[in-house]
Amino acid sequence: MSKERKFFIETFGCQMNELDSEKIAGNLRHKGMEPAGEATGADVIILNTCSVREKAVQKVYARLGEIRKLKSERQDLIVGVVGCMAQLEGERILKKVPYVNILAGPQKGHVIADLVDRAADSRSPAIDLRMDEDPEPLETAFVLRESRWRAGVTISEGCDRCCSFCVVPFTRGKQRDRDSANIVREVRDLVGQGYLEIVLLGQTVNAYRDPSVAGLTFAGLLRKLAEVEGLKRIRFTSPHPNEFDDELLDAMVSCPQICDHVHLPVQSGSTRVLRSMRRGYTREKYLSTISRIRRAPRPIAVSTDIIVGFPGESEEDFRDTLTLLDQVQYDSVFSFKYSPRPNTEALELGDDVGDEEKGSRLTVLQEQQRLIQYNRNAAYQGQIVEVLVDGKARSRFALAGRMSNNRIVNFDGPESLLGHIVKVEVAGFSANSLKGVWIQQ
Ligand code: SAM
Repeated sequence: MSKERKFFIETFGCQMNELDSEKIAGNLRHKGMEPAGEATGADVIILNTCSVREKAVQKVYARLGEIRKLKSERQDLIVGVVGCMAQLEGERILKKVPYVNILAGPQKGHVIADLVDRAADSRSPAIDLRMDEDPEPLETAFVLRESRWRAGVTISEGCDRCCSFCVVPFTRGKQRDRDSANIVREVRDLVGQGYLEIVLLGQTVNAYRDPSVAGLTFAGLLRKLAEVEGLKRIRFTSPHPNEFDDELLDAMVSCPQICDHVHLPVQSGSTRVLRSMRRGYTREKYLSTISRIRRAPRPIAVSTDIIVGFPGESEEDFRDTLTLLDQVQYDSVFSFKYSPRPNTEALELGDDVGDEEKGSRLTVLQEQQRLIQYNRNAAYQGQIVEVLVDGKARSRFALAGRMSNNRIVNFDGPESLLGHIVKVEVAGFSANSLKGVWIQQ
């Protein structure tokens, strides 16, 4: 029955969700379904959702509103809402959107095809929102990947931290780690298929502890993966500042395959706010980690996440975040307005920084960071850099590639360069990217 169906998956949120969607696609294809090019041509539409901020949840409801039209034209269209928002909102989604046929939490990629069959055979929705009592397998047999040269690899699921603003522990559960031998085998297979870059994914990726007798630390795992012949680049996201130890930095310095970029979420520059966020470090401790990274014999780019308008964030606290930006000189920053989330501890603190004030703090912060990035990118003018050619540029240029330090370089060249590592001379820059000229070899 499922053999004739075509599916379309829309992903909201982070890199981990993108990989989860590839796992869902792998499961659906294994069960005989085929990807549809667009939602209108699909028999099954899956929205793989995020719940980290309220805006992400609203986006999904807005999209479901659009899908209603498709559903009214085709009663047999199967609509699934899966992932973090499904886990968090649960059956409330069905009350608001009664035409949803499937609800499933994250880590249910391997059962989505069964849920599709169940939903098709029944008038009532197919639901799998169980957590903990029935832990899902960490190994995934089928992954249908978007890219042929960069692959995400899950090393752990869930999170044991309890940052007071964060909903992730409630949607993805406690941290569970994969056996290192399985991770190494997956990476070897991927390299055998021609993949050049591996992105190791975990909510707190550097809290990884190998459950097998090998007992590798995260740094040990990185070193082991660096031995895989033919693997050109290893990235990882996101590490927690507290576990960013010397062992990890040493591994980065001594294994050239590990990209020279660290995404180290700080969230705030104020120790008072950090305490209230339950981040487990002070401004000073975070800065001393940054100094260690800056002193490394190999230059390592640093990016971060920042939340503005956390409950109780005063003008002075916010100024601490701005001075932190000046001190660290990040290569890029993702910044967000605080969004109160269900179940989280910070809910009890209220949401006392108004939306307008959050907006103006965000603007000030982003403008300051734009100047920092502009100046940092200026230093690349005239340099010859290596990029992994990734795809079409969003600009007037034909191609875009990514440096090991995660900078994007736009340049002209033939499509045959896609998926190759090539040299480019930097001939221009903006705050967000570099422009280059391909050096033919
Ligand atoms: N475990 C990941 C980490 O620490 O990098 C967190 C992933 S979360 C998807 C990415 C970012 O979203 C966080 O680093 C934080 O800046 C932001 N975020 C999380 N909860 C938030 C909230 N309630 N309001 C606003 N931003 C939030």
